[in-house]
Amino acid sequence: MTFSGDLLIGGASVRGAAATFSAINPADGTAMEPSFAGATKEQVELATALAWAAFPVYKETTLEERARFLEAIAERIIALGDDLVLRASDETGLPPARIEGERARTVGQLRLFAREVRDGKFQELRFDPADAERKPVAKPDLRLRNVALGPVAVFGASNFPLAFSVAGGDAASALAAGCPVVVKAHSAHPGTSALVGKAVADAVAACGLPPGTFALLFDAGFEVGQTLVADPRIRAVGFTGSRRGGTALIKIASERKQPIPVYAEMSSINPVILYPNALRNRAFEIGRTFASALTLGAGQFCTNPGLIIAVDGPGLDEFIETATAAISEAQAQTMLTGGICDAYRKGVARLSSSSSVSQVAAGKNGTPYQAAAALFETTGAAFLGDPELQEEVFGASGLIVRCQDEAELREVVLSLEGQLTIALHVDAEDIAAALTIIPQLELLAGRLLVNGFGTGVEVSPAMVHGGPYPATSDGRSTSVGTLAIYRFLRPVSYQDFPAELLPEPLRRS
Ligand code: NAP
Repeated sequence: MTFSGDLLIGGASVRGAAATFSAINPADGTAMEPSFAGATKEQVELATALAWAAFPVYKETTLEERARFLEAIAERIIALGDDLVLRASDETGLPPARIEGERARTVGQLRLFAREVRDGKFQELRFDPADAERKPVAKPDLRLRNVALGPVAVFGASNFPLAFSVAGGDAASALAAGCPVVVKAHSAHPGTSALVGKAVADAVAACGLPPGTFALLFDAGFEVGQTLVADPRIRAVGFTGSRRGGTALIKIASERKQPIPVYAEMSSINPVILYPNALRNRAFEIGRTFASALTLGAGQFCTNPGLIIAVDGPGLDEFIETATAAISEAQAQTMLTGGICDAYRKGVARLSSSSSVSQVAAGKNGTPYQAAAALFETTGAAFLGDPELQEEVFGASGLIVRCQDEAELREVVLSLEGQLTIALHVDAEDIAAALTIIPQLELLAGRLLVNGFGTGVEVSPAMVHGGPYPATSDGRSTSVGTLAIYRFLRPVSYQDFPAELLPEPLRRS
C-alpha cells in the first residue's frame, strides 16, 4: 500500500508547505520513504476553521450516526491489514505482535465508545419541571444536558502508535463527545499516522459528515502543535508525552484570551509497595513478575513499575536476588526513537553516578540502537533527601528503596509526587498495615492495585488512567476507558424553554 506524506485537511490531501522530515527506523537509524511536509500556520488555521465550521453540525449528529462513524473508523483500520502492522513496527521498533495487539485495542476502544454513544447516558439529560404554585416564588422549568466543547487538538503519543495516536483513546473520546478532532501526528511514526488518518477521513466521507470533522497535520518541529493550542477555535487538548512538552502546552493554553483545558498525561514512576509478609511468602514470584513488567516493551509504558518500596529484611534480599537474575538475562531492546533511547541512557547514567544509589542489575547490551535494562537500589533516607530520585527514567529502569522500618516506608510513600498507579503486594497478615495507608494512596494516584503491576491498562468503564500532577495535568479525569468522554463535554442548563427551542433530546414533556 502506498501513501503520500501529505496533510489531511477538509477531507483532501494537501501538500504541507513547511519543512519536510522522514520517519527514522529506530532499529538501524535509516530514513524511510516518503518525506512528510509540515503544515504552515495558514494550513493549521485552515484545519481549525474547517473544524469550527463542522462543529455545529457534528455535535448535533444523532447518537446512532456518531456511533456508526466510530464503527466505520474501526472497520477501515482493520481493512488496512498487514500494511499498517508492518509500517508501525518499522517506525517504532515494536514487534508486529505488539502492534497487532494494539490494533485490537484501538478498534475495541472505538467500538466501546460507539456503545457508550448509543447508550446516551453521557448526555446527562436532566428534567426538573416547573412548579407555578411554589411559594414564595414559582419554580422555573429546568433541563440540562452535556454539550461538546468544540474542536479538540490531539497529540499522537510516541509509545502507542495506534491506541494513543490518530484514532486512539483521546481522538475516540473527543469524537464520541461530538467534538471535531485535529491531530498533530507524532513525528516518530508519520507513516502509521498517515494510514490511520486516511481511514478516519474515509469514514468521515462515507458517513456524510462535514469534511472538517477530522484533520491530520505533520510537523518537523513544535510550531504546528503550539499554533494549534493557541488557536481560538480549539477548545481542548489531549496529549501524552513528556512533562516538558505537556507543561509547555499547558502554559500556551492558559495564556490564551480564552484558556482551555489541556488533558496531558506526562510522567509517572508507578510505585510498588512490597509488604513484609508478601515478601516472606512470595519474594521469588514477585521478583520474577516485577522483572517481566519492568522490561516489557523496553519499559516504554507510562505505567512501567519504576519504583519499589519495601522494608529491609531477608524477603527483600530474596526479591532483589530474583529480580537481578532475571534482569541480567534480559535482552537489550530497540527503543521508540533515538531521542528516547538517549534520554534513557542519560537517566541511567545519572542514577549510576549518584553517590547514594548503587546499581544491582544490568541487562544485556545490544546494538547501538538498543537499550539495556537497569535496576538500582537506595535507602529510604537517601530517597527522602534527593527529589531527583523521583524523576521518571522512561524505559526499563527501576529503583528499589530499602526502608529501615514501616514508619520510614510510610514517609517515603507520603513524599511521592502524583502517580498513574500505585501497587501493593500484600498477604493476609499485611492487610491491617495496608489498610492504614490506602487513604493516603488515594490522594496520590488514579489507580490502586493489589498483587499485580500496572502495565496492562484495561479499556473499561471502571478504568482510571490519570492521577494528580505530574502524572497528568488534571487528576479529575482519565484518558483510558469510557469515562474519558466527559473531558470533552460541559453541562448547559435550559430554563423555561418552549419545546420548539429545546435541543431534541430535551423535548420530552
Ligand atoms: P514529547 O517530546 O513530549 O512529544 C510528544 C508530542 O508533543 C510530540 O508530538 C512532540 O512533537 C510534541 N511536543 C513536545 N514538546 C513540545 C513543545 N514544547 N511544544 C509543542 N509541542 C511539543 O514526548 P515523546 O516524544 O513521546 O517522548 C519523549 C519523552 O517523553 C520520553 O523520553 C519520556 O520521558 C516521555 N514520555 C512519557 C510518557 C508517559 O506516558 N509517561 C509517554 C511517552 C513519552 P514532535 O513530534 O515534533 O517531537
